[in-house]
Amino acid sequence: MAERSIPIADLRYAAVAPAIPATAIEPDGNLVDRLRRPLRDLRISVTDRCNFRCTYCMPKSVFDQTYQFLPQASLLSFEEIFRLAQLFVAHGTEKLRLTGGEPLLRKNVEELITRLASLRTPRGEPVELTLTTNASLLVRKAEALAKAGLKRISVSLDALDDHTFRRMNDVEFPVADVIAGIEAADRAGLRPLKINMVVRRGVNDHDILPMATHFRGSGHILRFIEYMDVGSSNGWHLKEVVTSAEIIEKIGSIYPLEAIDPNYVGEVAQRWRYRDGSGEIGVISSVSQPFCGDCSRARLSTEGRLYTCLFATAGHDLRALLRSGHSDSEIASAIGLIWQQREDRYSEIRSHAVARSDRIEMSYIGG
Ligand code: SAM
Ligand code: SF4
Ligand code: SF4
Repeated sequence: MAERSIPIADLRYAAVAPAIPATAIEPDGNLVDRLRRPLRDLRISVTDRCNFRCTYCMPKSVFDQTYQFLPQASLLSFEEIFRLAQLFVAHGTEKLRLTGGEPLLRKNVEELITRLASLRTPRGEPVELTLTTNASLLVRKAEALAKAGLKRISVSLDALDDHTFRRMNDVEFPVADVIAGIEAADRAGLRPLKINMVVRRGVNDHDILPMATHFRGSGHILRFIEYMDVGSSNGWHLKEVVTSAEIIEKIGSIYPLEAIDPNYVGEVAQRWRYRDGSGEIGVISSVSQPFCGDCSRARLSTEGRLYTCLFATAGHDLRALLRSGHSDSEIASAIGLIWQQREDRYSEIRSHAVARSDRIEMSYIGG
């Protein structure tokens, strides 16, 4: 069956030039937004390209041969990413996640990882550095990533059933190669892995139990993600969302589960463990139980736009500041002001104020 998709406006160019406040906002690790939420987590998109065409993220009808990906000169260089990451860490960011597009397609991404792994929080602790990947290149790259200083990794895997998986990635990529990538990451010490499955009713919900069965006892943490209305190209509809409650009930009826406490305030996944001790799973209820109240995440696009919400319609052009000779103190102040003014809580209000065609794509901004 052909996927529904709707044409997107090119919002990559909708950027606001950040203001530099007259009084410097010195990074002291305690920056908070208007709702008192700190800036703990930065997701950095290192490429807008991908070798998959997951139907819910980069449908072929939009991301075809004529689609204009960003030219190389538009991308932030590793030096620029590192410089910004340093300023975010000084402001209190403790967790950096590389994403994309497919982050392992960015040439020499290991060099960036080596640099980011050297960062320390104001309290002198290493930053938590991780990466989200479709695992297609993991067999080749897992060891180099671990050597570069990566400690953890999340793998996206939407089905165990090969036919369903190929239909979802839409490039005939076999599930066996993703499993081999997961094993390679495990051998390289990037464990425990998080395995993320986006569930769409009628597409891959029949694979919820097989996935749970497969990863039980593996030491890896399987997480089920509610299909979100992010972007505008995927033709999202509420009826395709399988709620976390449904998923927990389905798995719990076969393998009894009990809820466990979050690891930290603002953790996106609700944690559950198998009562028989065979491991942990998570559910991310972005649609049915929004978690904006604790949202401490910012996103940096491939060409240096800062987005303070996944559903933002415009980014703040930090690259313009980097490339026009501003000092670290000025750029840190600009970031500080953007965060101090933040009041996003889209998932809680889920208003229709943000037209779907005005939303930024997941493949551009990263997950
Ligand atoms: N290519 C990498 C990958 O697939 O892991 C990293 C980028 S991808 C955009 C990050 C995550 O976003 C993936 O786990 C993907 O399944 C998820 N994602 C994309 N579109 C989504 C949507 N509409 N709802 C929920 N998750 C989505
Ligand atoms: Fe690529 Fe990840 Fe989007 Fe799939 S979800 S198309 S792998 S960026
Ligand atoms: Fe955070 Fe925006 Fe998602 Fe709410 S909708 S959790 S504010 S990214």
